[in-house]
This record gives sequence, C-alpha cells and structure tokens, in this order.
Amino acid sequence: MSEQTGYDKYELVVGLEIHAQLSTKSKMYCGDSAEFGAAPNTQVSPLSVGHPGTLPRVNKTAVEYAVKMGLATNCTIREVNEFARKNYFYPDLPKGYQITQDKTPICTDGYLTFEAEGKEKTVRIQRIHMEEDAGKSTHDLDPYFTLVDLNRAGVPLIEIVTEPDIRTSEEAYQYVTEIRKLVRFLEICDGNMEEGSLRCDANISVRLKGEQILNTRVEVKNMNSMRNVKRAIEVEFKRQIDLVEAGGVVVQETRGFDANTGKTLEQRSKEFAHDYRYFPEPDLPPVVLHEDYIENVKSNMPKLPKQLIWEYVNHFELPEYDARVITDDKDLAFYFNDLLKLTNNYKAASNWLLGPVKSYMNENGLEIHQFALKPVKIAELITLIDEGKTNFSVASQKIFPSLVAQPGKTALQIAEELNLLQSSDEGMIKGLVEGVLNSMPDKVAEFKAGKKGLMGLFVGEVMKASQGKADPKMTNKLLNELLQ
Ligand code: MN
Repeated sequence: MSEQTGYDKYELVVGLEIHAQLSTKSKMYCGDSAEFGAAPNTQVSPLSVGHPGTLPRVNKTAVEYAVKMGLATNCTIREVNEFARKNYFYPDLPKGYQITQDKTPICTDGYLTFEAEGKEKTVRIQRIHMEEDAGKSTHDLDPYFTLVDLNRAGVPLIEIVTEPDIRTSEEAYQYVTEIRKLVRFLEICDGNMEEGSLRCDANISVRLKGEQILNTRVEVKNMNSMRNVKRAIEVEFKRQIDLVEAGGVVVQETRGFDANTGKTLEQRSKEFAHDYRYFPEPDLPPVVLHEDYIENVKSNMPKLPKQLIWEYVNHFELPEYDARVITDDKDLAFYFNDLLKLTNNYKAASNWLLGPVKSYMNENGLEIHQFALKPVKIAELITLIDEGKTNFSVASQKIFPSLVAQPGKTALQIAEELNLLQSSDEGMIKGLVEGVLNSMPDKVAEFKAGKKGLMGLFVGEVMKASQGKADPKMTNKLLNELLQ
C-alpha cells in the first residue's frame, strides 16, 4: 500500500474554538482599561485580580458585542445568562478562576455558510459564550524567571465553538477567514491573529471514510496565524493516521503547534487534564436580555459582507468579482459605501477603488484608513471624466497623484493648475480638425478611397495640435462628420 493511499482512506474531522478579544474600552467585569500596549501591570486594580471583598460587574458593551456576533452567525440569543467560575491556577491567573459561562452560553445553535474549495460549506456553531482573558506570561525575556503582565487579565473575550463539521484544512482556513471578516465588520474585535486578539484552537480526529463515529480527538493550540491553522491541521491529520496505521491509538491530549518545526508537540495528556469544578459565579446576578433589547441591537448592526455582495451585484449592477474583492476588507467596503453615495457611476467607482486607489496603497504599504483622499475626491475625479473634461488615463496618471499630494484641493483645481482640462468646445476642436485635414490632402484622399485605418493618424494629429486636451469623443465625432 502506498503512502498516498494510506492517507486517502481517512477522513479529517475538525471542530474549532475561536477566542476573540472584544475591543471594549474597559474589562469584562470591572472598569480597568482594556487598552492594548500599556506598560506592564499598569491596568490592574484589585478588581482585575479578584482580591477578597471585590465584586465583579458585567460590561454591557461586551454583552452587546456577543449578541452581535450571535446574530451574525444565526444563533439563538439566550434570555437569562448566568456566569460560572472555571477553577484553575496559573501564574497569569492568580485569582485561581476564570469567570466564564458554562451551562448557559449567550448564543447557541447557529451556523456560518461560506465558500471553500469552490463549494458552499456550512459549519454549525454550537455556542458562543462570554468570558475573561488571563494575563500574559513571557518566558523568554528574563534568563531565570517567567514574567507576568496582568493588564490582559479580565479583558473580555467571546469563545466561538463549532460542531465537528470541518473536513479539510482549507475549510478550516476559510471558516477562520469568515469569522475574522465578521468580527471586523461588526467592529467588535480587530481580528489580528498575530497579536493574539483572535486565537484559534482545533479539535482534530480522524476516521475511515464512510464512518459516522467520532474518534478520540486531540486539541491543538498555538496556531498564531491563518496559515498556521492550515499547516497544523494537515500535520496533525497525518500524525494521527501514521499512528493508527502503525497499530497505535490516538490518546486524548493537548498538543501545541511549533511553527518553526511544523510539528505538533504534546503539552498535556488526559491524566493531567484540569478538573475545572465549574460552579455558578456567586457574585454576579444573571444578565437578562429582553426581546426588545435584542431587536435594538439587531437594528443597529452594519451590513455584513454577504448582504453587501448581494446589494453591489443586484442594486449597483457590479460584477460579483468586484463585490467580493471589495467586501474582503471592512475598511475598503465602508469606504466604497461612502463613495456610492457620492456618484451614480457605480462601475467607475469600483474601477477607481480596485485600480488606481488599490495600486497606490499597495505601492506605499498603506491601509485605506491611512489614505489621504476621502471618497468625495474620488467622486470628483469620476465627475470630471463623465463631464468630458478629462479622460481616465490622464485622471489616473496625472491628476490622481497630484490630488493625493494636495488633498485639500479639488480634482478640478488640480486639473486646471496642471493645464490638463480637455476641451469639448466644439468650435475650437472643429477648427483643429479642419486644420489637420487641410494639411494632409493625400491622406484624406486615401481615407476616402477606403483606407479607414488612417483614422488613428487623424485623431493623433488633432490631439497633438490641442496638446492632448481635445475631448477624444468629440474629436472622433467631428472627424467622422468632416470625412463624409
Ligand atoms: Mn475559553
């Protein structure tokens, strides 16, 4: 049996858990700042570390963000939300427990549909619950000690847990991409995996194709980029098959992915698994969400990528390709939405955004929110072209760069200053056309005898005579009339 056939007999079964750090101003259960990047241990009051006598209270914005994510993933939102203590000690969790939700997660029974490998894929979402983050341990800064920064202790998280519906590493990759897009559109999390604001763990098992059972799963952690999620799943899939094929058994354990070696390594086996001894958090009353509250959150949700794609294609008659590229990036989509309000030439708007604007940002390593030109400037450029005052190549190559350098001016001012306005003054262009035709009677005769290719020469000569400013449409029209 070849190696390839060996792997082909098996099917991958993956469920994902994603922790998303919510971008609230304060922490989940107290008013300490949740801002990232402050000096270590400067955002830690006795509440953050749960000193005796302190009382937690729930961050309302975090609840709203969790509801938004639940609605975006088609979940049922729970009315009575209780909190629970999950007990374990770790240096970055000195209070000895995490306040989370156990039996009453705020969102349940949702799903997410997305494209993977050219097909529509649906992954069921089992639950989304609210909890708090632990602090951050740093092992490589001091030669002897592990350093702990508790600024992150208590920062709000939602944990999004899927059913084991994922069958390929590419589906996992696309699922995480979709979740990241959603949290960004909802503006509830910055979605940055490298900085740890979006963290993904995978529960991975294998089974023979055609089987319906779920075999023992291994939890893989530490996949700190989208690419590593994919790599880790592929590596763990093969490791488990190799193990089974060699007569071994997969044991329930937690493994970490090492991006340098591309391998998963044992971190914790079942014997050492924590017994979290969940119990209801005695210091927090349940959070009760009424129907009108949920309706209110729903009505304040922004349009999400799926809906935007539908609108771009059906209302604005844009190609689906344009719609997809624009909605891949929240800031680009929001910019485009503003631009659509300022022009009726939707295709031109999309062409400008995906053409000159995107190239400019790529060349300069910028994100759209750092881009000097507001949508109104792009709308001005489009108007200038639509009014026949310039053409796309002059506008994109000459006016656009100057406008970026002087964003306080209008596109028209720049065009005037650079003497780039094209003329559609019929009398003036007619004079030029007549001049050109009179200066080359032989060519005119040849044209009339059937050499229609000479039209290009005539247009070029008129352009030259006008120093590039004659409106090409008008020039063509007049040449055609005078050459009758
Ligand atoms: Mn968790």
